[in-house]
Amino acid sequence: MEYIKKFIVLIITVFLLMSSSLSAQQTEQTENGENLPSLIEARISSTEQRARLVLDLSAKTLFAITSFSEPMRIAIDVKATDDKFTNKISPPAGGLITSISFETTNDNRIRTWLVLSEFAQVQQAYILDPFDNQPARLVVDIIPANEDRFLANVAQDIAYSQNQSKNDIELGDNSNAPGTLNSQITSRPLIIIDPGHGGVDSGAQGAGGNKEKDIVLNFALLLQKLLIQSGSFEVALTRTNDSFISLQERVDLARANKADLFISIHADSFDQIDVGGTSIYTVDEDATDTDVLDKILAENENRVDIIAGLTPPNTDDQAVSILVDLMRRQMRKQAFRVASIIVSQLKPSVRLRRFPVRKADFFVLQSPDIPSILVELGFLSNMKDVENLTTSEWNERVANSIARGIAVYFDETK
Ligand SMILES: [Zn+2]
Repeated sequence: MEYIKKFIVLIITVFLLMSSSLSAQQTEQTENGENLPSLIEARISSTEQRARLVLDLSAKTLFAITSFSEPMRIAIDVKATDDKFTNKISPPAGGLITSISFETTNDNRIRTWLVLSEFAQVQQAYILDPFDNQPARLVVDIIPANEDRFLANVAQDIAYSQNQSKNDIELGDNSNAPGTLNSQITSRPLIIIDPGHGGVDSGAQGAGGNKEKDIVLNFALLLQKLLIQSGSFEVALTRTNDSFISLQERVDLARANKADLFISIHADSFDQIDVGGTSIYTVDEDATDTDVLDKILAENENRVDIIAGLTPPNTDDQAVSILVDLMRRQMRKQAFRVASIIVSQLKPSVRLRRFPVRKADFFVLQSPDIPSILVELGFLSNMKDVENLTTSEWNERVANSIARGIAVYFDETK
């Protein structure tokens, strides 16, 4: 969990300088001629396991996060004005956050105070561009921490504030590139990205002749680039050009390389054209019969290979079946977890399909030993989705969210 410490140090010691393309009516002029965004609205969700603060802002701005003890609090500062901010909110009872309050300081900051019910730390914090008439947003996720970690964070913050004049804010680069947190990992997880279709199989086709096979390949290459840039993952694609490969080959490739995560990328058509938005599938356990599983466990392959190291030699067939089944269930649980995490990362900035985490009997999701998900980016049968799927800004936003979700998932599983 060393990366979390690193990350917290990073966000505490670095104010993020965000590109500001502000229009005059959105901002207020300060005495020294500085354009300041406005805080528009605040929202908080809070359970025992996790809390999320979202601040709506008229434009991207700088922020900083500090931990305090006695009482235990986390302060989130944003450089903004509160002239439009009237929201009085309170967190639900029983969660990580017991109360929230806002304070305006004389140096053009708004400080959000979160009083903690237990030791906690910031898991991630990032600022999102405005999109689709939605404002810019600062998202701060908070998770429980042990006492040592919390007190270490407080001590670091005190040390930092003593060394740093408020008027001498150190400006930094965007520290929130996906996966930057766990660059310390020595053996990096292998992610296999599987762009659907290819070659003679074009997949779905959208109005204007956009082909699914091209859209998903471009997206897969973008996601690969982001994951590699993070320095935290090994990434391979099942295809890197417009070639046909069978479903079996896709699964075999992931299994032969002992992938830690398999992500198939699609943008199919749906018979109801009004259905749109991004969704993520995990395998449907009920729909999977043993015949399908047997197809995956190729005939020439000994099932014992799957659980190499877990069983003593000469284990009987029945015992092996039970272990394979246990492993499969474990992988499905993980697949569901990663799908849920990615959806929560997509949620603030991407239009999602109703019930975005879904189950279906997709062949490529059947690996018994690899958590496997299928991202349905959108539907080429839906006009709004076609527009999104062919917009590079949208593709980048979705790829960034997915990369961030993958990083959070692997942080958790460490
Ligand atoms: Zn498809």
